Amino acid sequence: MALGATAPPPAIISNSSMHVYLRALRNAPTLEWMEGARAGGTKDTLWTNETTELLPASVQVNGADVPLTWQLHPQLGHADPRKVVFVYESMEPHLRLCWEWEARADFGPVEHRITIENLSGREIWLPMVDSLRLAWRTAPTRQLRNFYVEKGADTPSAAGTHLESVGEGYRWTGESSTYAHPVPGRPREIIPAEIVYRADGTQSGWYAGIEFRGRTRISLERNGQSVKSTLGLNPEPGPFRTRMDPGGSFQTPTVFLGVFAGGPDGAGNQLRPWVRAVLGNPVTWKDPQYPLTVNNSWGSGMQVDEGLVLRMIAESRELSLEMFHLDAGWFRGVGDWYPDPKKFPHGLAYVADAAHRQGLRFGIWTDWTQAGVDTEPGALNVHDAKVRDWLVTDLPTEWKPEEFKGQTTDLGVTAAHDYAAQEVKRIVESYHLDMLEHDGYLVAQGCVRGDHPHAAPDRSTMRVIHDSGFDFVLGSNSTDVSYHAVRAYYDIYERMRREHPGLLFEICNDGGRMVDFGSAAHGDYFSITDTYNPISNRRAFYDTSHLLPAAMLESYVEQWPTPRAENFLYMLRSGMMGWVTIMLDTTAWTPAQHEAARQAIALYKKKLRPLIRDANLYHVSERPDGIHWDGVEFWNPQSGRGVVYAFHGSVADENEHRFVLAGLDRAKGYRLHFEDGSAPDQEATGSELMKQGLKVNLPHPLSSELILLEDASGKR
Ligand SMILES: [Zn+2]
Repeated sequence: MALGATAPPPAIISNSSMHVYLRALRNAPTLEWMEGARAGGTKDTLWTNETTELLPASVQVNGADVPLTWQLHPQLGHADPRKVVFVYESMEPHLRLCWEWEARADFGPVEHRITIENLSGREIWLPMVDSLRLAWRTAPTRQLRNFYVEKGADTPSAAGTHLESVGEGYRWTGESSTYAHPVPGRPREIIPAEIVYRADGTQSGWYAGIEFRGRTRISLERNGQSVKSTLGLNPEPGPFRTRMDPGGSFQTPTVFLGVFAGGPDGAGNQLRPWVRAVLGNPVTWKDPQYPLTVNNSWGSGMQVDEGLVLRMIAESRELSLEMFHLDAGWFRGVGDWYPDPKKFPHGLAYVADAAHRQGLRFGIWTDWTQAGVDTEPGALNVHDAKVRDWLVTDLPTEWKPEEFKGQTTDLGVTAAHDYAAQEVKRIVESYHLDMLEHDGYLVAQGCVRGDHPHAAPDRSTMRVIHDSGFDFVLGSNSTDVSYHAVRAYYDIYERMRREHPGLLFEICNDGGRMVDFGSAAHGDYFSITDTYNPISNRRAFYDTSHLLPAAMLESYVEQWPTPRAENFLYMLRSGMMGWVTIMLDTTAWTPAQHEAARQAIALYKKKLRPLIRDANLYHVSERPDGIHWDGVEFWNPQSGRGVVYAFHGSVADENEHRFVLAGLDRAKGYRLHFEDGSAPDQEATGSELMKQGLKVNLPHPLSSELILLEDASGKR
């Protein structure tokens, strides 16, 4: 680009991980280059951007396109080493654009967003504004990789974790939405992030992701000397447009951008602590019981009542679990979130108080944006004229909800938002909750109505898709509908957190359809998949833990055949690498299984949980296939402690496996303790463990071992 003699000096954002050089040109800003801080700016970690920002070229006013001319206003901007804001204005119509970068932690990635304010006094329609566009210059011979992971969704797929070569002509788009209806032939949704790195040497590169729950996409392509990536709202199906009322504004989803070395685990070990420090809820992370051990009622499905709950609370206490989680089945009906009086004659606060008296926390499942057909006072009924106007689509008069799925209301409508905010508050306060789980198709992504704050749909291309119990809409306005609904959803949860700082939010959407960085900023933990057998739990954890803190990743442990004692531990441990929720009938356990579970939970709380919270994480095997061995390593260099989870798959003749460990000091000695006694305690050097590997021998298929590591040179 031609800067000329009058180009202003760059503004620099820095932390201990990276430096970013930004420059405000007269008509547009630009990110010029970035580099890793620790490497001292060697060519290895230097990335030069070859484009300036494309500010919106036009808007619509009264149905006509009006071209825009943007002009820098230096006096309105701001620059310090942690935050830079460049401000541009258009005079006709009068708009103000803030181009903002911030380093919110002294390590990890920096964040970026664009805010456009409508100062014109008229209604303005804005076209698609991407969150971030990058065009890195790169040598044509440089070998690059693109690493990304799928959401666990209903069931983790056979792939899950993807590593692709970014060669000449490479084109990739990863999509994330509020609810991924499985469309045959379409790629699965991703957790919206990409990790792009050099295939050789230090495996250094950059990573970027989107902190938003709405419909978003990331694209990556390579042509000649240019590697381009675009992040932001999903322009498909388009054309996208969004309304700005007089005095209103539009903000692109915030994105983060980081520099790292060491391949995907190197990126993850920088990103996960950053998610905790910057996006996470500080009250939650200060809680010494986080991530909690939980007993959940879904092992009995919808057949729950007061008697069962009181028995399960007593069982939970006996097993030293820390929370009782009442799943679906407790309510009068969908949209009618009051306890079924036949099942809970004394109400929900009564059983919550019973849990509290036993030293347990109490949480429940809800689907609080959904309407049904109940007519009792307090029920959200789809046939009520007011509610009908909030629904994303019209329903036939004979429509009925499923047992626990109804029709989604559009939270982007102010009246629907206000109703839902009151309802969530009532549910939390009147039922004495410590945790609220939401589920279902919660946040609309498409709506047939023309009188909502979002853009009206183009009816010629609109599709109404029928899923079990509800309909959803895909059309030109889908992304804008999701934009408004997500903002409203965030507002409700942000208010609840201010009023109830210790309240926990579980993010669930038919399992792991809402796993993303916007959810990480507004919830405390995720249901990562809706399939709960050992292999699905391990696959979903393996994938998701590349990007998000292990403590936030909940596995439900369901009933699974355990003819032998080692199968029972294998089942439990497959769900004990992050947040663990037991979802089986513990009263059916044998005394030996009871004792094994009690010990496994005690070990989790004493030795595993501190590592799950604080340690680095290394994926030291191929992705689990259920057949061969797999495992993960946690290692905390500060405490000098770690653990390897080792799983022996279904193959009978693979009794021995070596896990090549990572993150240790080659020169140091390490004590190894095999928790189940599959080998005697021993010592090994970091060099041995990271070259020859940690040898584990388990004679039986579908068994497991926990190998606790300790720095032998440190204090015991
Ligand atoms: Zn709507």
